[in-house]
Amino acid sequence: MVRRTKIVATIGPASESSEAIRSLVEAGMDVARLGFAHGTLASHLENLRRIRVAAADCGRLVGVLADLPGPKVRTGPFPAPVGALLAVGARVTLVAGPGMSDSAMITVEEPGLVGDLEVGDHLALGDGAVVLEVQDTGPDKALAVVQNGGWLQGRPGLHVPAGRLRASSPTAADLHLLEEVVAAGFDMVAISFVRSADDISRARAAAGPGGPLLVAKIETRPAVDQLTEIIDVADAVMIARGDLGVECPIEEVPHLQKHIIRTCVAWGRPVITATQMLESMVHAPTPTRAEVSDIANAVFDGTDALMLSAETAIGHDPVSAVRTMARIAIRAEAEADYVQWGGRLGKLQRLHALPGLLAITAATSAAAWQLALNVEADAILCCTRTGASARAIARFRPTAPLIGLSPSAATARHLTLTWGLLPMTVPEQATTDDIVWFAVERAHAMGLVDQGDTVVVMAGNPVDPEPVTDDLRVVRVR
Ligand code: PGA
Ligand code: MN
Repeated sequence: MVRRTKIVATIGPASESSEAIRSLVEAGMDVARLGFAHGTLASHLENLRRIRVAAADCGRLVGVLADLPGPKVRTGPFPAPVGALLAVGARVTLVAGPGMSDSAMITVEEPGLVGDLEVGDHLALGDGAVVLEVQDTGPDKALAVVQNGGWLQGRPGLHVPAGRLRASSPTAADLHLLEEVVAAGFDMVAISFVRSADDISRARAAAGPGGPLLVAKIETRPAVDQLTEIIDVADAVMIARGDLGVECPIEEVPHLQKHIIRTCVAWGRPVITATQMLESMVHAPTPTRAEVSDIANAVFDGTDALMLSAETAIGHDPVSAVRTMARIAIRAEAEADYVQWGGRLGKLQRLHALPGLLAITAATSAAAWQLALNVEADAILCCTRTGASARAIARFRPTAPLIGLSPSAATARHLTLTWGLLPMTVPEQATTDDIVWFAVERAHAMGLVDQGDTVVVMAGNPVDPEPVTDDLRVVRVR
C-alpha cells in the first residue's frame, strides 16, 4: 500500500549522521525539518547537504524545512544527560543572564524578560509540562513556586504570558537567518509564533519572489483568531500543538486541530499536524494506544502531513518512529472516506473568491477530481510549473494515485508536503501535447500506470507567459 499522508521528521543529534539520514529517507521521511532554535547555521547547512545526498542516493525527492525559532525563549541548559527534577511546591529563582540551570535556579538570557515578570504570572516550561507561579520580583530576578512538577532537560522552552514578550515574529534574527536559508536553497521555511498575516508578509518580503514555501506555525491565540487571514497569505500551515496547548486551554487543541485542517484544505494549503505524536517513543520501543489513535484521527481529520519532533531528533530509535507512524497512517487511510470528503469540498471551496487565473486552476482541479471518479481513473497526472494546480487537485483527496510532474526541481520538492502527491521532475516540453504525452510515458516507464489504464491528465500551455492549468484530458494508455 502506498501511503498518502506525508511524514515530516525532525533531524537532530540522534539522526544527523549521513547513515541515519539515509535510513530515515528509506523508512519514508518525506520532509526533513531542521530546527533553527538548536544547532548552528553551519550544522544546518551541512545537514541540508547530507539530506540532498541521501535523497539522490535513494532516488527520492525529500523536502527540507528550516524552522525559524521566532521569539521563543529558552532557559539556560540543565545538566546533561538527566536534567533536573522540579518538585511541586519547591521554590525556584529565575535569574537574567547566561549560565547553567538546575532545580533551584533557572537562567534566562532573553534581555529584559525576567525583569518584566509580574507577581501571579504563570510560566510554562518544556511544552507546558512544568508550571511555575511568580511570587516575588526584583531587578533581573524573580522568585517562583513550582505548581506542576517534572523533569527538565536540555534547554526547555519558557512560555510567558504573551504581553511579556517584547519581540514580534519573525524577529530580526529570524530575518537574517531567512536570507541564509533562501541562499542555501531550503525548500520550506516555518515562521514560529505568528500573530498576524502581516508577520507572514514581512517574511515574504524578506524571502523575495520564487523563494521557499512559507509555513505559518499556528501556536498563539492571536493566530487562531486571525486564522483565515494568515492562511490566505501563507503557503502552508503547521498546527504547533506544543505551544498552542500552552497559549490556549489544552482541551481546545483537538477542536482547533480539526478547524485548522478543514480551513487549510478548503484553501488548498498543505497542513502539518505536529508535536507529541509519538512522544513515548523517544524512550520506548512501542507507542501508547492514545498516540496511535491520535495519529489515526489526524489522518481522519484530513491532515496533509504528520510531524515527528523529539522522536526523531533525540529519540532512541528515529527509524522505528518513522516506520511506526507510516504503518498507523496507511491503516487509517484505508478507513477514511475520501470520496465523501471530496464531495463536501466541492461546496466548501472558495472558487469565486479567488482572483483571475487561480479561479481557473481551482475550477479545472474540481473538474479533474469529478472526471477521475466518473471514468474510474487509474491515476491522475498533474503537470505543474508552480505546484499550484497539484495542490489544488490534492485538496479533493482523490482516491486515484496522484502524480505531480514538474520541470522545476524546487516545485517538485515543494510537493513532498502535499497529501497524496508523488512528485517527480521531468524535462521541459515545447507544447501541451508533448507535456501530456511525456507525462504518461514517464508514469508508464516507472510502472505507475499500465497498458489499458485510463489516466486523467491536468496540464497548461508551456509558452503561456502566465502559467495556468487550463487543459484536462482523459488518456487511455496503449
Ligand atoms: P516547536 O514548534 O517544536 O518549534 O516549539 C512546534 C510546537 O510548538 O508544537
Ligand atoms: Mn512551538
